[in-house]
Amino acid sequence: MYTHKRKLGPRAEYREQQGQRVTAAPSLSQKYGKLKSLTVDVGYFAPEGGSQFRQMSYAVNLDHAKSVFRMDCCNDECVQGDYELTEELAKAIAKRAKSVVGELCCHGWQNKASIKTTKCNHVLRYKLKLGY
Ligand SMILES: [Zn+2]
Repeated sequence: MYTHKRKLGPRAEYREQQGQRVTAAPSLSQKYGKLKSLTVDVGYFAPEGGSQFRQMSYAVNLDHAKSVFRMDCCNDECVQGDYELTEELAKAIAKRAKSVVGELCCHGWQNKASIKTTKCNHVLRYKLKLGY
């Protein structure tokens, strides 16, 4: 049987797959009943932690945000990268940590032309504040 497959670039295809994982996951409030509040503070940096692109801080809506917790890479050309805080969040909540600070490096490719040659390597520095 012939099934029509939409043509997506490697970037859109990856984002779509990840989007499905996120959509299928339970919300933070469903998965972590003990968690009452979550504030995310993030800074995006160039590779090697050089210049800073942007900084943001926001309170997460636990009823809407999913427990598969991803943040888009700040490199608009990035392919198959992004940051995922799902594990960090699960560990922090398991030990009832009130704040977690860390850094993640994007493991995607710098752009479509550099797939399998140059890594994206943009850096995300985060601080999570959790309330129970
Ligand atoms: Zn990236």
